[in-house]
Amino acid sequence: MKQDVIVIGAGIIGLATAERLLLQGAKVTILERNKAGQESSWAGGGILSPLCPWDYSDAVTRLTSHSVKQFPAWISALHQASGIDPEYEISGMLILPSYDVETAQKWCSKREIKIEEREILCTPAMGNNIEIHTCKTFDRTLFLPDIAQVRNPRLLRALLNRVAQLGGKIIEGCAVNGLETAHQQIQSVTSSCGKFIADYTIVSAGAWSKEILGKHALKLDIKPIRGQMLLFKFDTPPVRSILVKNDLYIIPRRDGHLLIGSTLEDVGFDKQTTTSVRDNLLMRAQAILPILHKIPIKQHWAGLRPASPDNIPIIARHPLINNLFINSGHFRYGVTMAPASAEILVNEIMSIPQPFDTTPYQMGWNID
Ligand SMILES: Cc1cc2nc3c(=O)[nH]c(=O)nc-3n(C[C@H](O)[C@H](O)[C@H](O)COP(=O)(O)OP(=O)(O)OC[C@H]3O[C@@H](n4cnc5c(N)ncnc54)[C@H](O)[C@@H]3O)c2cc1C
Repeated sequence: MKQDVIVIGAGIIGLATAERLLLQGAKVTILERNKAGQESSWAGGGILSPLCPWDYSDAVTRLTSHSVKQFPAWISALHQASGIDPEYEISGMLILPSYDVETAQKWCSKREIKIEEREILCTPAMGNNIEIHTCKTFDRTLFLPDIAQVRNPRLLRALLNRVAQLGGKIIEGCAVNGLETAHQQIQSVTSSCGKFIADYTIVSAGAWSKEILGKHALKLDIKPIRGQMLLFKFDTPPVRSILVKNDLYIIPRRDGHLLIGSTLEDVGFDKQTTTSVRDNLLMRAQAILPILHKIPIKQHWAGLRPASPDNIPIIARHPLINNLFINSGHFRYGVTMAPASAEILVNEIMSIPQPFDTTPYQMGWNID
């Protein structure tokens, strides 16, 4: 591929797309308003799965499943090339009540996904995931042993490094403010750091994608949904698996860091944290891990997810502008979906056959 491509936005989606294009021989310039990899992609938990996967449509499942398979090789290539370890780890995910056991088991068995019913009696002698001083007794839990996680800031640094090594030009502090069109083509991209001309333009600006597209957004439905997270630090991780209870999750990192998330707040582009959410997350997490009563919060932050209806992203060519593409709207699972979304978009640009039916990811324009 000889063409020049402009990628707008250096989150996980823009960077993964840029990497894939560079591997195909394209010349890629990435325009990033702030610093690369500091928005939603940095803020997230790094769980490589939907929380209760049976709650989502086939369009989400197909994309996440295809993506998750690519992680071991992708992470190992990034680690090797950059020297930065994104800490990919198959830690498993333990789902605490309440949930619909039958729906969960049926869904998993249809897709040959391993699921185990576990009784957690909080005794270390039982060899369970939760040790005696850290938990209460739950009668029935579901364990998905194959669910993995990554550490977002490390993954982003490794990917940024890799993109630069492959010759990608990353321009930070460069805010795109317009797309000039004529004859159903983008003629130029205007920004705070000048005018850019390329064969193809890709909008991957997360929650800001609709604003960048302006009138070309048509009926695209992408908006910011805030999520807040808490961070703790233990000497050794108090749990080994990811724990999920309804919308609350607890993620243990290798070095004793522990993340608690999250919220779904429809507050526009406001990235402030709030004490009411902090207290509520803390109270719900302490009910699962009482040891959190004794440990101070190390950090509290918020990120803006690019929310789309039913969590189905738009990975497609613009219906009216031939050289304009979008890869955005990954909502709660953009890290999980990143490698497959990059693959699908690059296939679309290069007319390579897709690995499965990708029409659900073209529907977001809503023009029919
Ligand atoms: C609290 C929280 C927890 C999450 N947990 C998980 C999880 O466990 N697993 C999972 O898979 N996903 C998770 N997610 C979701 C995931 O993080 C997002 O879906 C993903 O990061 C979206 O990536 P993105 O590249 O589209 O957006 P972003 O990372 O937001 O990147 C968009 C980029 O575009 C740039 N930009 C914006 N406007 C302009 C402009 N005008 N010009 C140039 N650049 C611009 C921004 O500065 C930004 O760098 C979580 C998200 C949050 C907030």
